[in-house]
Amino acid sequence: MMIVMKEGATEEEIAHVVERVELVGCTAHVSKGELLTVIGAIGDRDKDQQLSLDGAPGVDHVVPIAKPYKLASRQFKKGEDSVLEIGGRKVGGTNFALMAGPCTVENRDQMLTSADEVAAAGVTMLRGGAYKPRTSPYSFQGLGREGLRLLAEAKERTGLPIVTELLDLRDLDDVLEVADVIQIGARNMQNYSLLSEIGKSKRPALLKRGLSATVEELLMASEYILKEGNENVMLCERGIRTYETAYRFTLDLLAVPALKEQTHLPVIVDPSHAPGRRDWVEPMSLAAVAAGADGIIIEVHNDPDKAICDAAQQVPTSEFRELTSKIEAIAAVVGKTVSRA
Ligand code: PEP
Ligand code: MN
Repeated sequence: MMIVMKEGATEEEIAHVVERVELVGCTAHVSKGELLTVIGAIGDRDKDQQLSLDGAPGVDHVVPIAKPYKLASRQFKKGEDSVLEIGGRKVGGTNFALMAGPCTVENRDQMLTSADEVAAAGVTMLRGGAYKPRTSPYSFQGLGREGLRLLAEAKERTGLPIVTELLDLRDLDDVLEVADVIQIGARNMQNYSLLSEIGKSKRPALLKRGLSATVEELLMASEYILKEGNENVMLCERGIRTYETAYRFTLDLLAVPALKEQTHLPVIVDPSHAPGRRDWVEPMSLAAVAAGADGIIIEVHNDPDKAICDAAQQVPTSEFRELTSKIEAIAAVVGKTVSRA
């Protein structure tokens, strides 16, 4: 539940509420606004129901949060959208994040050429994987630390914030050296120890929806990051497994308005992995913007036919500018602007 303090509530009154919240075994999450302080009592529902704080000194009113996710719920931010600030770019609200770059970092020439070209198109952030979650253990697994080094070089050249995946906690410190946003891949959405550590790191996170996860499971997973005090979480729809075999995954665009109704967190769409084919990436990108997404993360490569992974779905940099203009046009229709420094 949320305890909304009266305007001008004293530090003592706030401390008293925090003490009561902790006494019933919940965690108190204090958020101080300009006028009001709101205290979230985070824990099991039966615990917070033992709190009777109506009429307590300094308390204005108490709002029960019926959902199992608390910090992620829209109610927790009084209905407002969270606006994250990442490397000088805003994400959320009216700020649309255009993230693009190759599926994986392959070599210096490929990474830097792709980076220069997506930067010239005016993206918000640059993506590229150094650690790749591959279905086959015999496939290319990513360049690892060398890949991170090339991402650092691309960041230095373009000034763009970097989005890159962390696959294994053992690489956390290395990834933290370059990542402005840590991507948590679909296959790790329910790796709760990984989520908690990313929460503790406080680094912005892009949490991708698991292949067979429900919208509620995605929100519960985000709660693992949020509960460690990391408020910089973006959710990402990337396609789910259904009975349909005509494409790789079913891009569930209805998850966008469904998530936006339930959470204040920015909702991003990955239009690349579900089609698995580059000619279907544009319609899915535009549909995602129209559906109200706060951003898209799209795979773009300087020479996709030679790409080591996901060759069929990566958009050539030569076609990306035109796609960017279309994305900007649809974003304008829904009241959003592509976020740039
Ligand atoms: C990726 O973004 O390159 C990726 C592997 O995504 P996902 O975890 O959604 O499959
Ligand atoms: Mn990929």
